[in-house]
Amino acid sequence: MSVVSKNSDVVIIGAGPCGLFQIFELGLLGIQCDIVDSLPQPGGQCTELYPDKPIYDIPALPICGAQELIDRLMEQTKPFGATFHFGQEVTELKKLENGKFHVATSTGTQFVATCVVIAGGVGSFQPRRLSVPGAEAFEGRHIHYRVKSASDFHGKSLVILGGGDSALDWTVALCEKAKSLHLVHRRAEFRGAPATAARMQELVEAGKMKFHEGTVQSLHLDGEKLAGLNIETKDGRKTTLPAEQVLAFFGLHPKLGPIAEWGLELDKKALKVDTEKFQSSVPGIFAIGDINHYPGKKKLILSGFHEAALAAFGIQHHMNPEKRQFLQYTTTSPIMQKRLGVGG
Ligand SMILES: Cc1cc2nc3c(=O)[nH]c(=O)nc-3n(C[C@H](O)[C@H](O)[C@H](O)COP(=O)(O)OP(=O)(O)OC[C@H]3O[C@@H](n4cnc5c(N)ncnc54)[C@H](O)[C@@H]3O)c2cc1C
Repeated sequence: MSVVSKNSDVVIIGAGPCGLFQIFELGLLGIQCDIVDSLPQPGGQCTELYPDKPIYDIPALPICGAQELIDRLMEQTKPFGATFHFGQEVTELKKLENGKFHVATSTGTQFVATCVVIAGGVGSFQPRRLSVPGAEAFEGRHIHYRVKSASDFHGKSLVILGGGDSALDWTVALCEKAKSLHLVHRRAEFRGAPATAARMQELVEAGKMKFHEGTVQSLHLDGEKLAGLNIETKDGRKTTLPAEQVLAFFGLHPKLGPIAEWGLELDKKALKVDTEKFQSSVPGIFAIGDINHYPGKKKLILSGFHEAALAAFGIQHHMNPEKRQFLQYTTTSPIMQKRLGVGG
């Protein structure tokens, strides 16, 4: 694990729509930030849960696809050069004696931050795990929930579990590279793209892989080594599939996780904030979007955008309490236009 240590004005935890807009609002005020997400890409719920669905209640965009909204937000943050840290969960947040914050992630990145914005939504998305006895001991070596390097599976007996896009895409991609490939899904219908499901069926018909409608019952061990998976098919047959490597794609579920352990005041499993600057019970730690709670809170993207704007002013004041704050318009402020890289 490589340890990266960094000073940062602001660390934003969560790159969902609200965390992304926070980069923009801070950038307008000349404040730099780092942003961390446990997922490998930005977008939070929009990208993970409903990328193709149209959203109708974003002001001035009568209809906007959820992924399109994230792409537009990413474009809008570009002038401000935020640093993105994907695929890592923030596991530690502690106040230091000098008033700054120690922030650490699951992959060893450490920050000393002047302020922190928690934009963690409904929590960090975690893979649903293979729940058969003994599986945990093989996770990361023989049982995987995402592909870090496709070549790890070349020439191996491989079992892929699941029926969504990830399961189908990797089945098609690895079929002719693996020594053998079995796909197991509890139903004959797939949630993934129909074209990829059809391609998988073609590979089955060509004798290049096998598909089983069934569920995993237990691990098949050879001494201490994983040798296969024991499955039960829908018609009640029990069979053992050879498996040096297993890829399980059962989807993701959100987990409030470490956020609940940082000593911040909670209300209904959400972080209590004020409505002036969306600051939590610890000065210097702000919370915006679905993760916060205050009287009248509505979990809407629109509300999170408003919260990000006021949190940015709260952060500016926290960083520089003596400085008078001015409201400036992007239409007329030369300094904001300079930061945006527009104007004359
Ligand atoms: C099916 C569906 C349809 C919806 N339709 C609409 C709609 O039409 N209009 C609307 O306004 N809203 C809609 N919503 C709600 C909207 O998606 C949420 O309000 C919005 O996504 C909240 O954004 P956020 O940035 O607060 O959190 P999220 O989108 O939840 O993003 C939070 C991010 O934080 C990350 N994270 C959390 N904890 C950690 C940690 N410890 N370390 C690192 N990363 C962490 C997560 O991985 C996640 O990526 C819909 C929601 C769903 C599920």
